[in-house]
Amino acid sequence: MHDSFAPAAPSHDCALCPRLCAHRAKGAGHGPIASHGPVSARVLIVGHAPDPQCDEGGTSRLLYPALYRLGLALHPGNAASPPPLSDTRVTFAVRCAPPDQMPDPAEVRTCNQYLAGELATLPNLRGVLALGALAHAAVLSACGIPPARIRFAHGAIHLLPDGLIVGDCHGSGHDLTAAALEASILALLRYLETEA
Ligand code: SF4
Repeated sequence: MHDSFAPAAPSHDCALCPRLCAHRAKGAGHGPIASHGPVSARVLIVGHAPDPQCDEGGTSRLLYPALYRLGLALHPGNAASPPPLSDTRVTFAVRCAPPDQMPDPAEVRTCNQYLAGELATLPNLRGVLALGALAHAAVLSACGIPPARIRFAHGAIHLLPDGLIVGDCHGSGHDLTAAALEASILALLRYLETEA
């Protein structure tokens, strides 16, 4: 059962992933990014990993304006200051910035404990939006479901055995647009309303 405690987060100098620590030590990456948004959120948005230029990742440059347009963020945000969110929380499958913004499988597995903590602890969580195939697989793993059992498909919404709803959206590159993000968030919210 969910409880009302905040999810366990990695320490600011978490050293569980040697490659990411070395990347950080060279000044090319950074330490773990904390989840952002209220613990009371119904929706958790999961990116694959932050990038080194923008602490909350390139995805956030599209994500926060989209949340703002949907009335879920107080303002569109910027790299230095993500906006206060309502009913929505944002996290990453891998919290530290990897080289080329691409974590390796061992790093995804190691950091999965923190994603699992989010999913198990947020008291009102109903839906997750996975930004990309890597985030989708990490969410399933954190739920104890083999990722191969439910394939990523942009626009798909999956109902997991425990009742959690997982929506898929493109995660990066040319396919990730403000319109695609906004439509995916809206589709997930509408699905939650029909299930209420
Ligand atoms: S990616 Fe996650 S587990 Fe690995 S060092 Fe960063 S916070 Fe720790």
